[in-house]
Amino acid sequence: MKRILLAFSFALSACATAPEPAPRWSIVVHGGAGVIERANLTPELEAQYRAAMNRALATGGEILERGGSSLDAVEAVIRGMEDDPLFNTGRGAVFGADGKNHLDASIMDGSTRAAGAVADITHTRHPIGLARAVMESSPHVMLIGEGAEAFGQTQGLEQVPPSYFFTERRWQQLEAELRRRNLPIPARPEGAPPAPQSLQTYPDDHRFGTVGVVAFDTHGNIAAGTSTGGTTAKQWGGVGDSPIIGAGTYAQNGVCGVSATGTGEYFIRVGVAREICARMELRHETAQAAADHVIAEVGATTNAAGVAGDGGVIVMDGRGRAVWAFNTPGIYRASQFAGGTPVVQIFADEGEDDE
Ligand code: ASP
Repeated sequence: MKRILLAFSFALSACATAPEPAPRWSIVVHGGAGVIERANLTPELEAQYRAAMNRALATGGEILERGGSSLDAVEAVIRGMEDDPLFNTGRGAVFGADGKNHLDASIMDGSTRAAGAVADITHTRHPIGLARAVMESSPHVMLIGEGAEAFGQTQGLEQVPPSYFFTERRWQQLEAELRRRNLPIPARPEGAPPAPQSLQTYPDDHRFGTVGVVAFDTHGNIAAGTSTGGTTAKQWGGVGDSPIIGAGTYAQNGVCGVSATGTGEYFIRVGVAREICARMELRHETAQAAADHVIAEVGATTNAAGVAGDGGVIVMDGRGRAVWAFNTPGIYRASQFAGGTPVVQIFADEGEDDE
C-alpha cells in the first residue's frame, strides 16, 4: 500500500514482483528521481522517456536471456543511457558552475565484490566503461579527474571533446540555477551550438536524471552500476554518491544489488546502498523493507539549512526479485524478469495496485 507522509509524498512501490522460484534472470533500471509531475511532462516527452526505459530493459534482457553476465548487462544498458540526451549522464549531463560537464560512474560485481569508480570525467564518452576498466585492469577502486582519463586512454577507451556532452536543455538549467544563486554565468563551451532563438521547456527540477541498473543473471550473479553528471551548478569539484561504492552503488551475491539516485550528499551520509544490503544480510529484512527504511532515513536527514534528503533506490534481492523506493514525486524506473512483461513507471502513484 502506498503511504503518504504528511506534506511530502513518500512513495513506495513494489515493482513486478517476481514469482517463486527465483527468475532465471532479472533486471531493474532507474533514470533518476525528482520533481517529475504529470502537469509538466508533455505527452511527447513522457513517451520518449517510456520508450528509453523500454529500450534499456530490452538491451539488458537480451544479454541476460542468452546467458550473458549481469556485469555485461549493467554496462551495456548504462552505455546506451549515457548516449541518450534524455538522461543526466554522458551526452545530456548537467553542467557544473564552471560551465563544464563533470561525469561520475561506478560498477560492482556481486560475485567477487570487485568494484570500480570514476569521478570528474570530462573526455571519456562512456564513464561506466571506464569504471569497469578501473575494476578489472587497475589496482584501484576509484580514480578521479585527469589521472582517470589518462588511465582510460591506456585502455583504449573512446575519448570525445567536452562539447560532445553539451545539450541546450542542461545549459539553460545551468543559467537558471546560477541566476537563482547569484553566481556568474560562464561563456558557452567551445564547440557548443549558438544559443537558439526559442527554447523548449522541460519538466526538470534542476538536477535529476542519473541512471542506474541492477541485474541478476542466469548464473545467480548480481551486478550494479550508476552513472551521472551530478547536480547542476556543482562547485569546487563537488562529487555526489553515484561513484561512491556503498553509497550510490553496491552488489553482493546472495544478498542484494543497489543503485541510488537523489541529492547525493544525503546518500553519502546515510551510506545508502551498503546500509540496505546490511539490513538484508544481517537483519534478514526483505528488499522492500530495507529500501523503505533507508529512504525514510534519507528523508529524515537534514542539511545545515534544514532541508531534508530526497531521492530513491532500485534494489534486487539475492534471488533476483526487484523493488524500488523513493520519496520524490517521480522516478523513471523499469523492471523485467525472464518470461515476464516489462514494467515501466514514472509517477509516484503508478503501480499502487501491485502492492
Ligand atoms: N546522486 C547524484 C549526485 O549527487 C545526482 C542524482 O542522482 O540525481 O551526484
